[in-house]
This record gives sequence, C-alpha cells and structure tokens, in this order.
Amino acid sequence: MKAIAVIPGKPDSVHMTDLERPSVRDVPGGRGVLVEVIRVGVDGTDKEINAAEYGGAPPGYDFLVIGHESFGRVVEVGPQVKGIQPGDYVTATVRRPGKSLYDRIGHYDFTTDDTYYERGINLLHGFLTEYYVDEPEYIVRVPPGLREVGLLLEPMSCVQKGILQAFEIQRRLRLWHPQRVAVMGAGALGLLAALALRLRGFEVSAYARTPPPSLKAELLEAIGVQYVSLARTPLLEAAREHGPFDIIFEATGSSLVAFQSMELLSKNGILILTSITGGKKKVEIPGDEINLKFVLDNKVMFGTVNANREHFELGVKDFALAESEYPGWLSRLLTNPLKGLESYEEMMRLLCEDKKAVKVFVEVRDLDA
Ligand code: BGC
Ligand code: ZN
Repeated sequence: MKAIAVIPGKPDSVHMTDLERPSVRDVPGGRGVLVEVIRVGVDGTDKEINAAEYGGAPPGYDFLVIGHESFGRVVEVGPQVKGIQPGDYVTATVRRPGKSLYDRIGHYDFTTDDTYYERGINLLHGFLTEYYVDEPEYIVRVPPGLREVGLLLEPMSCVQKGILQAFEIQRRLRLWHPQRVAVMGAGALGLLAALALRLRGFEVSAYARTPPPSLKAELLEAIGVQYVSLARTPLLEAAREHGPFDIIFEATGSSLVAFQSMELLSKNGILILTSITGGKKKVEIPGDEINLKFVLDNKVMFGTVNANREHFELGVKDFALAESEYPGWLSRLLTNPLKGLESYEEMMRLLCEDKKAVKVFVEVRDLDA
C-alpha cells in the first residue's frame, strides 16, 4: 500500500513509498484494530521532520511514514476487542508507552524516558498511508456527527491536556475564578484553544501577526474572541487593553512570545506553554523584572506536550458542544483539502508557504466511499 515518508536526517526528503498492508493479526492476543485511513492533517511538526530538524525512523527502516493527525474507519477487529466495531469512525493517539512509571499507568504523555515513541514523529510509522493497525487502548471513537472534523481531534487533544493541567495546578489556590484569558497565535492550535476557552465561558482575546481582514480573525470573532493583530503593534503594548490575564495559552511557535507572555500574567495567573521551538534562537528579556513579578504575584508557568486518550475524549465532548454552540465553525478550519496520497508535494508546499492555511490535510479516501 502507498505511504508518505521522509528519510530522517535528510532535508526535503518527503516521498511516496510502499508498505506492506497491516493485518489485525499483527497485534498479539486477538486485540488488533484495523483502520482504513480517511483523512490526515499535517502541522508544524511534519514541516520540521521534513526539514530534518526532528523525528526518527523505526528500528529496521531508513524512512519514517509521517502523519499523526488521523481520522479513519474501522474495517476489522480481533476477537478480543470490545467496544469498537467495523464501521466505527475513529482517531488514534500519537504516543505509545515506553518504560517509565507514567507510561505504565497510561500517562505516556508524561513519560520520563529519554526515548519516546510517537506514531508519525519518532520511531513509529504514522498514518499518511492507506491502513494502520493498533491496540484498542490507542483508538478513540468519533461520533458520526463529527466525522467531517474528526481529523482536528489530535491538535484538540493537546489543547485539552493544557487546559486540564492548568486547572489541576490551580487547585493550589482553593478558589480560582479566571476571567480574562489570552491566546497567543492563531494557527490551528491557537484557534482550537480559543474555542475551548470560549466554551468554558471566558473572556478571550487572541494575538497573532496577520492583519485583519483574514479568515483567522473572522473565525475568532465568530466565537466572540477579540482578535488583536501584532502587524503594527508589539505584543506587550497590544495586550495592555485586555490584560493582565488569568490564563495565557501560548501557541505561536516563538520563544520570544513565550517569555513576553510571562509579563502579561495577572496575580496568581497561569501560563500554558505548547510551542515546539526546534531552533536555537536567543531572546533578550527583562529577567529581573519578570522574576520579581513571578515571585511577588505567585504566578505559574508550565510546559505541556502530547495527550492521552482522556484528552481525546474531552476533545470529542468539546467538538460536540462546539457544533451546537457555533454550528459549522470547526469545518471552516479545514482550509486546504488535498486529494489522495499522491498530493504529498503540494501538501508540503502549502504547509511551508501558505501563511493563510489553517489546516492542510490529505483526503486519503472519500468520506462517503
Ligand atoms: C504532536 C504531539 C507530539 C509533539 C512532540 C506535536 O506536533 O501533535 O502529539 O507529542 O508534536 O513530538
Ligand atoms: Zn502535531
């Protein structure tokens, strides 16, 4: 079967390759779930992998099949699989357990192992192919009513983990009623974070470079978020009107914005860092001032990566809520559909060059086939 792969360590090596079609029997104990891939989204991580800045091939291979934002349909299950049936729409988690204690209790997203296994990213093949097989633990059912937007559940799972962790951490305060919230960045992750935070009833403002009018600004305004463009005004100045913030969700990909966000937190506020900054950039910040305010104001900042099935399930609930609160909004994020695995060159080009694209994705199969 066809698959889209890169040769880790070799820049611009994205290509079509051939893989053996998997079988439910590849998973021991009758626990295999065979899925036909319908749609796969791509993001900055795929871009970094193709730029040879990130990612590794599975043992025994010199290539890595990419794609970690998946949506598909179950075609066959092993005799021991309960709760998932052929015909079910599904998505899949990305990381697979290593050896640490966290991995052993299902919290593989908190692994303390140095080596981590992520489908389509590191040491395991991904989903930009025709079929995959996995264990039921890593397969999450998607209600048919959400099949159009199911491929957005992986990025949404990362948003859910970030927000859930923020609330877990803030239990330190006994009482916390966050009101003012900021989202940094208006890519798919920023937009989904803004949505999740609006669904929780917060007053949200979002900061990104693109000057309005733009789809990103329109999308944010459609869910009642104040969009502030940083095209002409620097962040610290632009955020003065709506800040300081009780929660900041940082998803720009810029470490400078991450550090500047530290200056925009309110007393007892919390900063959620999600940007994967693969480069080596150095930034200049007023260290004494930031540190002093962090201490005097009891502020918190934490990093969050990946997600486990609990966060995917929370994402499903928020998507269902979003469809009733803001019908059709999620599907407006699906800006750049591409037909078939053959379109991989265009996929990479759009991913790297089209700043207006919110979600570039491949339609491996027709949704109605
Ligand atoms: C993926 C996460 C993954 C992270 C680090 C992100 O693009 O969405 O699932 O953990 O990259 O590899
Ligand atoms: Zn990703």
